[in-house]
Amino acid sequence: MISKPLDDVMKKYNKSYIITGEKVATVNENNDLQHVFLVLTKIKYSKIPVLDNDNHFKGFISLAMITEKMLLENNISAKYLDTITVKDVMQTNVPVINDPSNLEVIMRFLVDENFLPVVDDNNVFLGIITRKEIFNVINFTTHTFDYYYQTKENKKDD
Ligand code: AMP
Repeated sequence: MISKPLDDVMKKYNKSYIITGEKVATVNENNDLQHVFLVLTKIKYSKIPVLDNDNHFKGFISLAMITEKMLLENNISAKYLDTITVKDVMQTNVPVINDPSNLEVIMRFLVDENFLPVVDDNNVFLGIITRKEIFNVINFTTHTFDYYYQTKENKKDD
């Protein structure tokens, strides 16, 4: 559990740390890998969320998952990518965030993932939370903690 004073100060961070869905590059689970290879090559991200036709979160797809399918016996080829769909290779064991105010859970999952999907109760994709955004919250907390809380260490003698 996060100590209450720390949690309180983290919650005073007054900017949203969620990158909302419309700003997130996504692909459809039925897209073929050739299409996604081009998308990932054009944008600067190597891993992005996968959605279904109804905007439900389904998983992550990365360049590494695609290049793995390009390895032939003696060479590398993009030849077969249009015969494979995203849902055949995507990562599905992804932790999702239902409650974006629960920083304890978010920080725990961000140890292993660079970013996390935020979904509603019906698994509809709402956006992502990245490590970078949470580092901004931590940065804010470590710089403002003394302003909000008095501890044994920072107590000024009257
Ligand atoms: P960052 O901390 O900004 O480098 O983002 C961490 C990871 O989150 C990136 O490497 C991407 O995999 C993912 N990501 C961040 N922003 C976006 C976005 N706008 N669209 C899709 N994926 C994103």
